Amino acid sequence: MGDAGGPFRGRLRREQRTFEAMLALYCRDLHGGRRGALCPECDELGAYARERLARCPFGPAKPTCKLCPVHCYRPAMRERVRAMMRHAGPRMLLHRPVLALFHLLLDGRRTAPALPRRRDGAASTPRVLPSD
Ligand code: SF4
Ligand SMILES: [Zn+2]
Repeated sequence: MGDAGGPFRGRLRREQRTFEAMLALYCRDLHGGRRGALCPECDELGAYARERLARCPFGPAKPTCKLCPVHCYRPAMRERVRAMMRHAGPRMLLHRPVLALFHLLLDGRRTAPALPRRRDGAASTPRVLPSD
């Protein structure tokens, strides 16, 4: 999976690192994976989440995905992320307390700002991948 923060900066980088840490924990516990050597299913989920983050229409003002009105994830992927977070969320305080605290106090509570407006004054249409 490479650099856990990927190409992201600031809080998006921290969010990405938190996601990757949770995914690694989940994969280790349920699929025998290791950080940097996830099972193919989790590797696919990680790549998908990175791509969604890179294309998030809110950019640096990105809200918490679960509070997002756009919900750009395909339904099946969203369900996989939910299952992963249900498992890893409660365990993060023990394994990655600093990231877990940032998530609990900051990154997990951000509501969505208005989407940037286009030059013609209409609200931007987020780019959304086709659903499953
Ligand atoms: S669900 Fe919303 S906040 Fe999360 S990446 Fe997609 S558009 Fe951005
Ligand atoms: Zn896995």
